[in-house]
Amino acid sequence: MRDDSKLVVGNVKYSSRSPVVEMNFKKIWLAALVISACLAWQLISAAAQARPWVHPESFTLSNGLQVVVLPDHRAPVVTHMLWYRVGSADEMPGKSGIAHFLEHLMFKGTGKIPPGEFSKIVARLGGQDNAFTSYDFTTYFQRVALDKLPQVMEMEADRMVNLRLTDKVVLPERDVILEERNSRTDNNPAALFSEQIEAAQFLSHPYGRPVIGWRREMETLTTQDALAHYRKHYGPDNAYLIVAGDIDAATLRPLAEKYYGGLAPHGIPERVRPQEPPQLAARRLEMTDDRVVEPSWQRSYLAPSHNKPGEGDPDALQVFSQILGGGASSRLYRNLIIDKPVATSAAASYEGIALDYGQFYLHAAPRKGQTVAVLEQEIEKILAQIMKDGVTAEEVDRAKRQMVASAVYAQDSQESMAQIFGNVLATGRSVDDIIAWPDRIQTVTPERVNAAAKFILRPENSVTGILLPGKKSPGKKS
Ligand SMILES: [Zn+2]
Repeated sequence: MRDDSKLVVGNVKYSSRSPVVEMNFKKIWLAALVISACLAWQLISAAAQARPWVHPESFTLSNGLQVVVLPDHRAPVVTHMLWYRVGSADEMPGKSGIAHFLEHLMFKGTGKIPPGEFSKIVARLGGQDNAFTSYDFTTYFQRVALDKLPQVMEMEADRMVNLRLTDKVVLPERDVILEERNSRTDNNPAALFSEQIEAAQFLSHPYGRPVIGWRREMETLTTQDALAHYRKHYGPDNAYLIVAGDIDAATLRPLAEKYYGGLAPHGIPERVRPQEPPQLAARRLEMTDDRVVEPSWQRSYLAPSHNKPGEGDPDALQVFSQILGGGASSRLYRNLIIDKPVATSAAASYEGIALDYGQFYLHAAPRKGQTVAVLEQEIEKILAQIMKDGVTAEEVDRAKRQMVASAVYAQDSQESMAQIFGNVLATGRSVDDIIAWPDRIQTVTPERVNAAAKFILRPENSVTGILLPGKKSPGKKS
């Protein structure tokens, strides 16, 4: 049984768009998720260029299950990841948290596997397993020696259709997810504030709801809710399998046919989600919390996603986020930390890997003795200068080089490759889109970056948040 008693905070520090990752994730997985949120395209594509082993192979079973193989023959291990095209943004109104709740309940047994045994069996096979839930997908994975792959495939296929749930196992697990919410969010003012910012950014679209769920709604989730979500969304034609490791498609295909091929297609539910109304006014939030030690400032701009670029230019936005706030040579870092030191941190990121909307984030924290108001003024000056003068050709070239260099970190991890491919496929894009990324990014010009900057940096497109220490915060006199 998974140990949910000592949860770690899965949230990426400055981003609210992170999945709920179960606590027994290995560090490398957390790293992969952090990477994937911001850098998935550049990492995977540059890795595909740099390393000859990243040659994805793909096939689809007759029941609709898509299979992607990422051969990596450096060690006789495989990572088996089953992805469902359903996440928290597909939940029914009033049932927030049910996607993540069901993820927990998928470990509660079938006719063949007793409740709580799934992970123990994987451990006895010498492997590791876990699961995670995000807005657009729910994922289960195991990492095992190659010769144990058939067993985990059999178990994963079994629980796709044969899950058994009763109040006896469901209701105690509801206490577990409530405690998880407590530990990840309610006890963490930065996470609580991120929830508020996301809720303010999305008036109608369900990206404004936390993946873990709103507490009041979580408390009312039932066995029937979980079964309804399971029956609607879990089936071979609403899933895809990614297997990375010491295997190729020719070897995997008969196994996939044997274990998954016999499952009847299910009918793919349409992913109908409310759209955002046009944002007409800049939104501002301020929160004070006695548990906050240092003030911080952040801003979210509603952005296009790679899947739905609309009038936006996601590739150019990626380059722009690197120029503005991607590391020590970025505009924010140089201006706010080196030249005129008013901040202890300053960065930008673009999260464009999403089925519907992306977000462009800025975040910074003032130096001691400096106010958030001064920090915000300085940031506005930097943005105004970019709007007026644009970026330089040198900055664009350097950003592209840095983006490719970052990819070096991903290519050594079989797990992060599987994670990144899965994440991109979950959000409406294809293996070919991933492979074509370097060519696309090479076409980005300073003119496109400037146009993307003007498109995204519209005040009426933004939510600005300030998180402040309270009167009783550590370091404050009470
Ligand atoms: Zn959980």
